[in-house]
Amino acid sequence: MMRFPIAGFRAIALITTILLAVSATAATADEAQHTASTPAYYRLKLGDLEIVALSDGTRTLNAHQLVNIEPAALDRALAGADQSNPVPTSFNAFLVDTGRRRILIDSGAGSLWGPKLGQLTASLRAAGYGPEQIDEIYLTHLHTDHVGGLMDGDQLRFPNAVVRASQQEADYWLSPAHLNRAADDDKGSFRNAMTSIYPYAAAQHFQTFDGDIELAPGIRAIASGGHTAGHTSYLIESRGQRLLVWGDMLHVAAVQFAAPQATMRFDFDRDLAVATRRQAYAAAARDGYLIAGAHLPFPGLGRVSASAGGYRWIPVNSPRAGAGAEAK
Ligand SMILES: [Zn+2]
Repeated sequence: MMRFPIAGFRAIALITTILLAVSATAATADEAQHTASTPAYYRLKLGDLEIVALSDGTRTLNAHQLVNIEPAALDRALAGADQSNPVPTSFNAFLVDTGRRRILIDSGAGSLWGPKLGQLTASLRAAGYGPEQIDEIYLTHLHTDHVGGLMDGDQLRFPNAVVRASQQEADYWLSPAHLNRAADDDKGSFRNAMTSIYPYAAAQHFQTFDGDIELAPGIRAIASGGHTAGHTSYLIESRGQRLLVWGDMLHVAAVQFAAPQATMRFDFDRDLAVATRRQAYAAAARDGYLIAGAHLPFPGLGRVSASAGGYRWIPVNSPRAGAGAEAK
């Protein structure tokens, strides 16, 4: 088992937001329509901080991997959102620019999940940043679509960054014993986590943390296990404004806001994933803070609102988000 010590700081809480700018740049894509992945970013001011949503691309997801929901109800929910299976799904990462430091949350899939993903660096550059400017990378979990962008071939893509993840998550995915015990179909996830993280560990650029802890002024790690063993959310606060980067709290927005019990077949602990999701939705709806989701439609930023029997997603770039902002 690997142990990597880290330091901690401090934080506090509150709300609101100001929208700064939207921008997206198109790259040459031979793929058609919504299946094309183009670099894109979206900027948001959070108190003194700048938050930049970064697209790693769009890929379809088989929503029929959701369990705890009847297939007919699932298809009705998709149809109600003008969607059908498989569902085009965004893959988002988020940059926090404090003015002095640049912290990236998740790294995309890199080259490990096909040509539709791996746009993170291009999105970062479009937003005006080079990979060498990233000081730290916080991982929500160690699935391939979140760690795969750490490496560029055999080079560290972010040569000056320290990568941080929860100890529990690292213990699970970086364990050769777990790799050996895993089903053949699952071994790739372990190998991808190892090949993405080990070079940073070898360079003394990988650190783990335990549980809920402040990692930087105003940025707190919050254990949110269920999707994976050590899945972690990051609460970012500045001048009374709050944003929770909640990683893979859900995968299919058209279904899982209205039906929080619906959960992915591949969730590490399905019951815990459902409980964690219910708790996260309730808190977000009650307190009104912003949410950033890895697989919510790009830019993956918005708010959660309670609705009859479930919840609703209000994207930050929709007209209703303003009302949501004041609703508290
Ligand atoms: Zn994911």
